[in-house]
Amino acid sequence: MNFYEKPLSELTDEQWEQICLKCGKCCMLKYSDNGVIHFSNRICKYFDLKKGICSCYNKRFELTDSECKKVNLQLLEENLELLPPSCAYRRLYEGKGLPPYHPLLTGNPQSVILAKQTVKALPVHLDGTQEKAVIALLRTAKQQNWSDDRLMQNARKVFEKYDLQWLETYPYPPKKPAT
Ligand code: SF4
Ligand code: SF4
Repeated sequence: MNFYEKPLSELTDEQWEQICLKCGKCCMLKYSDNGVIHFSNRICKYFDLKKGICSCYNKRFELTDSECKKVNLQLLEENLELLPPSCAYRRLYEGKGLPPYHPLLTGNPQSVILAKQTVKALPVHLDGTQEKAVIALLRTAKQQNWSDDRLMQNARKVFEKYDLQWLETYPYPPKKPAT
């Protein structure tokens, strides 16, 4: 049996890392709105769009101005919506297997790029000022426990001011029943 066919909980750290497509889609800024999640045309400012990878991967959880979250089993169980349906971890968690363009299946490290499944194929922009405004908005919303309606009302104003757009929208995935 290939390691990626085993339950995710049985993978070693090294195997876990090999599952990632390095697509960068989890680094896009996201907004939640009444049961759907929008992936925007802005990406974390620490993402290196030329190389298509995080510019500070090993220090990403030490950053004070980033909402970066570790992709682990807990995230899959509690916040699956933060990952796009194409995410390899999410697919395995949902029992869908790796996508056909995954390097572990194709043997070609470039196959995700060739399949146009990375953020480089999307019109995303790095953002400093705009990102700060969005993060400040999300922080305030979290601290003050805003409803989704209030968050979206304010988010729309920020979107208009900074020409933010939603590129991909997905419904929240159903929660898996606890086993
Ligand atoms: S800090 Fe986190 S969210 Fe930002 S680019 Fe790096 S991995 Fe992505
Ligand atoms: S969306 Fe999933 S597969 Fe793509 S970079 Fe993020 S964790 Fe890896």
